[in-house]
Amino acid sequence: MGRARDASRIPKMPTITVPPLDEVQKPAFEYRDVYIGEAFDKDWAARNKTNGTDTHLDASTGGKVVRLAHSFYSLIPPAEYFKSHPEYFSLVGGKRRGEDAKLCLTNPDMLRIATEHVLRWMKEYPEATIFQIQPNDVGGWCEFDNCKRVTREEGGAGSGLLLRFINAIAKQAEKVYPDKSIETLAYAYTEAPPAKTRPRHNVHICMCPIGACQAHPYEKCRYDTYIMNHLRGWAKITDSGDLYVWHYNANYSHYLLPVPDFDELAADLPMYKRNCVVGLFMQGSVPEGGSDAPLRAYVLARLLWDVNANVPKAIREFHEIYYGRAAAPMLAYFRLVQNLVRFPPEGEGQHWWCCRSPRFGDATLDKARRLLAQAQAKAENETVRMRVQSAEGETFIRLRGIRARQEVRGEEWHVRTCRPRGRKESLPGVDQPIAEFRHNVFRRRKDPGGMAGREQKLRSCETLSGEETGEFLVPVTHRSRPQRPRHPDD
Ligand SMILES: [Zn+2]
Ligand SMILES: [Zn+2]
Repeated sequence: MGRARDASRIPKMPTITVPPLDEVQKPAFEYRDVYIGEAFDKDWAARNKTNGTDTHLDASTGGKVVRLAHSFYSLIPPAEYFKSHPEYFSLVGGKRRGEDAKLCLTNPDMLRIATEHVLRWMKEYPEATIFQIQPNDVGGWCEFDNCKRVTREEGGAGSGLLLRFINAIAKQAEKVYPDKSIETLAYAYTEAPPAKTRPRHNVHICMCPIGACQAHPYEKCRYDTYIMNHLRGWAKITDSGDLYVWHYNANYSHYLLPVPDFDELAADLPMYKRNCVVGLFMQGSVPEGGSDAPLRAYVLARLLWDVNANVPKAIREFHEIYYGRAAAPMLAYFRLVQNLVRFPPEGEGQHWWCCRSPRFGDATLDKARRLLAQAQAKAENETVRMRVQSAEGETFIRLRGIRARQEVRGEEWHVRTCRPRGRKESLPGVDQPIAEFRHNVFRRRKDPGGMAGREQKLRSCETLSGEETGEFLVPVTHRSRPQRPRHPDD
């Protein structure tokens, strides 16, 4: 039975008798991408029946789906074209812009060059079946008259402008490569479906619900009503087999912060299936060691194959195997975190977005501390002790740091930004516990090889928060993300 890569349970039998087998299984989703570092391992992916592009699956394990992505600027590099053809690029505030913006999608010459590029790309990667064209992940949509007119014709949906461009490329591509699809994103400015244009049959839409409250089933949270409307809108206008979702399931401000979304996952993967979604890219933490990563990968793989998988049972099984005698307190700790978001009376009913930390009260933190201490005391060997300590270091110690930080500031702070800010703030309430954690876990152990690798992983997680996102604690009241609807507790 596949678990985390370093924890498998293989039942023992003196004799294995195989009766005649005639069994056909059909997975719930054709594309099953658990985008979590721990899930890329070849054997893990094969045992857990995933098939994402980043897995190390090969022909010996039945292959995988190869899905490649290009941004607008890799289709039309500004370094090559901006000087001679500024009109290929977005007009923003009356000026053509060749950086941090998009393309002028109604420009016919630019379309011709982009199409040639896509055809070359398809030739270069014969093994790939899905070619994704992503608008650069910045603002700067084009304000040129033609582009604005198209957007108006599409009921104000930026997706219409994007889709006309993608459809035009897909029409040409189909003549040469009828078996390949082009995918684009329903993301932020293009998340709402267009009023007129429909995706061609060789075009996939990948909807990215970046603004969703990820704590609650989308159909049950008031913040996610608009997401459900967008999803149903896309389901209505895409051919069956052409709708994918890019689902967020990590904290992108810091991969080690707790992500209380297991109820949401258990409800929303079946919800996607009911709404004609056929492929899921589940974006977790790529640096290994992210919050609950081995458990998350295991549960997601079950649901991607069978949306009726028994999630509470899978969670229980995982804890029993991964934590052994420490399973009970670790399971209680897991439930404590999930209860932060469960609706009352069971839980506190906090809403949660993927770049924030859930809020922990003093009583909850005390309880977490006690449960983790119990788990440490019960751990039967060094491996389990390390796993418990990792959970402690990866969540609780950091939370303690964040709490300390909140106290220092004297106001409520959340982890919420995921944009580079170009500066690294020293965090006295956070840095000290992390240093202690490092010292305790890495330096005192007599297993330098294994621990060095683990420290490397931890560092790679920290790098993402500390250097790429610059600051990771910002006051909630002072910033808002423009591409997301505002919430009352912002
Ligand atoms: Zn334009
Ligand atoms: Zn919610």
